[in-house]
Amino acid sequence: MAKVTIDGHLIEVPDGTTILEAARKIDGEAPPTMCYYSKLKTSGGYCRSCLVKVSKDSEKDPRPMPKLVASCRTPVMDGMEVQSTTSPEVIEARKGIVEFLLMNHPLDCPICDQAGECDLQDLAYEHGAAKSRYEFERRTFEKIDIGEKIKLHMTRCILCYRCVKVADQLTDHRVHGVLNRGDVSEISTYIQKAVENEFSGNMIDVCPVGALTDKTFRFKSRVWYVDPFDAHRDCPKCSGKVRLWYKGEEVYRVTGRKDKWGEVEEFICNECRYDKKKTADWVVEESSKIDRHSVISQNHYVLKEPPHKPLLNSVEVVPHNYQLEEKKK
Ligand code: SF4
Repeated sequence: MAKVTIDGHLIEVPDGTTILEAARKIDGEAPPTMCYYSKLKTSGGYCRSCLVKVSKDSEKDPRPMPKLVASCRTPVMDGMEVQSTTSPEVIEARKGIVEFLLMNHPLDCPICDQAGECDLQDLAYEHGAAKSRYEFERRTFEKIDIGEKIKLHMTRCILCYRCVKVADQLTDHRVHGVLNRGDVSEISTYIQKAVENEFSGNMIDVCPVGALTDKTFRFKSRVWYVDPFDAHRDCPKCSGKVRLWYKGEEVYRVTGRKDKWGEVEEFICNECRYDKKKTADWVVEESSKIDRHSVISQNHYVLKEPPHKPLLNSVEVVPHNYQLEEKKK
C-alpha cells in the first residue's frame, strides 16, 4: 500500500494505483479527463487534461517532479504529495489544454447534440479562457455515416482514442481507427466501412464530444428536455442495465448509465440501445440521479414515478439540486 496526499487529503491506496484513480477515491474534485476511461484498457495519456503537480515524489526521494505529469498515467509512490486544484500552475496548464483542444474544435454548441453532456463543454466552462490565440482556419470534414446508426462528425473530434479502444476491445472485427498522424489524423472506418457489431454503439457513449452521435436521437431534442430513468431488461447479450431518456411518455433514446466521472457503468448492446424504445420492453426502476458536476445536472428534476401516465397530472417533481442541498444540511 502507498500513502499519498492529494490537495491536502491523505489516502492509502494499493501500489500501482494511478494518481487519478487515487484522487477519485477522495470525496472531492478529481482531475478532469477527456481521454482516460477506466473501463477501457490502455486509455489515457493523450489529452493532458488531467495534469497535476507532484510537489514531493516519495518518502525515499522527496524532490518535486520537474514538470507537471499526466495523473492518469503516473502511479502513486509512498509519501507522494500531489497538487491538483490547489496549484495555480496546474490551473493555468489546464487553461492552455482547453485552448489547445479548442484549436480545431468548432464552437457549435448551440446546434450540437452533445451540448449539455459534453466533457469538453464542461472543461471549457471550468478552465477555459474567454479568448483563443489561434488565427488559422480550423480543419473541417464532411459528416459521414459509421454504420447504420452512428454519425461521425470528424470536425468535432479531439482524437481521444476512446472509440478506437471500444472498437478494439468490445467488437470482434475492428474496422475503425485513426488514420494518418499529426494534424492530419482522423478517425475513420477503412473506406468508410460500416461498423456492424453488437457493441459498436458504445462508441457514442464514450465519445467526450459530439463527434459520434446516435442517428436515432440526433436533432430530436436538447438533452435537458428529456428525463432520464434507470431501467433494466433480461438481455442475453449485455447486462441490460440502461438509462431511458423520456420526453413525455416516449422513450427518445437509450444509453448506458453514466457515473459521476461521465463513464458508463456497463457497456450495453445495440439491441438494447436502438431496438428497445418502448416502456413495455423495460422494467423501469427510478429517476436517474445525475451526480455529475455538469451542465446537465443544472435544473435536473428527479421524477417520483416513471412516466407511464401523462406526466403533468401524475408526477410530483423535485428539483434535484435542491435535494442535494438538503442532504448536505
Ligand atoms: S470520435 Fe469521439 S471518441 Fe473517437 S477519438 Fe474522436 S473525440 Fe474521441
